[in-house]
Amino acid sequence: MDKELDRYGFEMDLVRKGNTPFYYYNLDVLHATLNEINRQIEGWPFTVHYALKANGNPRIISEIANYGLGADLVSGGEVKAALEAGFKAQEMTFSGVGKTDWEIRLALAHEIGCFNVESIPELEVIDQLAGEMDTTANIAIRVNPDIDAHTHKYITTGTSENKFGIGIEALDQVVKHAIDLPDIDLRGLHFHIGSQITQMQPYIMLCETINRLQDHYENQGIRFKMINVGGGLGIDYQHPDDHPLPDLEQYFNTFKQHLNIRPNQRIHFELGRAIVGQCGSLITRVVYVKENRDKKFIIVDAGMTDLIRPALYEAYHEIQNLTSRQMDHMETYDVVGPVCESSDAFAHDRMLPTSRRGDLLAIRSAGAYGESMASTYNMRSLPSVVFFPSDKH
Ligand SMILES: *Cc1c(COP(=O)(O)O)cnc(C)c1O
Repeated sequence: MDKELDRYGFEMDLVRKGNTPFYYYNLDVLHATLNEINRQIEGWPFTVHYALKANGNPRIISEIANYGLGADLVSGGEVKAALEAGFKAQEMTFSGVGKTDWEIRLALAHEIGCFNVESIPELEVIDQLAGEMDTTANIAIRVNPDIDAHTHKYITTGTSENKFGIGIEALDQVVKHAIDLPDIDLRGLHFHIGSQITQMQPYIMLCETINRLQDHYENQGIRFKMINVGGGLGIDYQHPDDHPLPDLEQYFNTFKQHLNIRPNQRIHFELGRAIVGQCGSLITRVVYVKENRDKKFIIVDAGMTDLIRPALYEAYHEIQNLTSRQMDHMETYDVVGPVCESSDAFAHDRMLPTSRRGDLLAIRSAGAYGESMASTYNMRSLPSVVFFPSDKH
């Protein structure tokens, strides 16, 4: 209640008390996103899995588990974290090109819902380990549909040039092989075409590919119990305050309209960024303002070790000065971190209110692939975390 919120909705007590740099998670935004997902899928045979790699913070993932979502996992560590957070094993999918034996055994021991299998050697190892453990592995074959999601080259996953999945030309052979293996139950097909996708055209193409493949296999008497369309829905990094939620209605409508869903079939989704991206901001303090001949730099105490997306993908994040004493006087700055790498910058030539040593900045839309990608390079500490509203548990 009556706590002071700034113009961007930050609780300033929390912001001022925090030990910078820290992640500020707005649980109201997270809850609104989860409610909207559940509203959109109601009445449809849809299951949404949260991709833990986007943000594995224990509080965040248990909030998400409470909304009844499943989990999409890419390592044994994530399997353990998801179990601890209260996700049901039956609602877990396990993806990744390099699953090791202990990770497969751990997932089999908990009878997770589905392995998303990316190669024939992996298929054979899962079959063998399942046989040794006297169990059956539910699997989906990850198909590389050769669809260009028109996103950054490091976050495109569905074209033939990258390491993920099995090409359509090889799929017949792999499907037959999977059906023949004794300890494998082939449940369906899995796709994931990339990340930060905001245009629906790649998803429409994905639906059309899936429809074609299902026709093809049904002609051979092969029916799939499930189809997993992956994740990748993007968020509005430019306008986080105008669009705190992703366009979930448009996204789910695309599949409702274009995917030919078979009777008794379940459609699975694996969303990461869309669920957690907008609930997180990285709060950082201005250490120095420095002027070179033709540039002004704001040097902050957060670096690429806390949020690597700008350095890794040249990603844009909105930056707000929460405490400037001259909110109406704008200047152009580069906002950079202290790490000894030229790529350690959060923004170039950005208009911001006149900033001074001690000001607090919010780097917005940092809930996904922020804290989860943090490192201790330069022997820095990992960023700390606060939750808003602060009185809720
Ligand atoms: C990373 C990943 C996701 C989630 O991607 P987002 O872009 O965060 O939605 C979903 N499925 C698989 C297999 C992934 O690797």
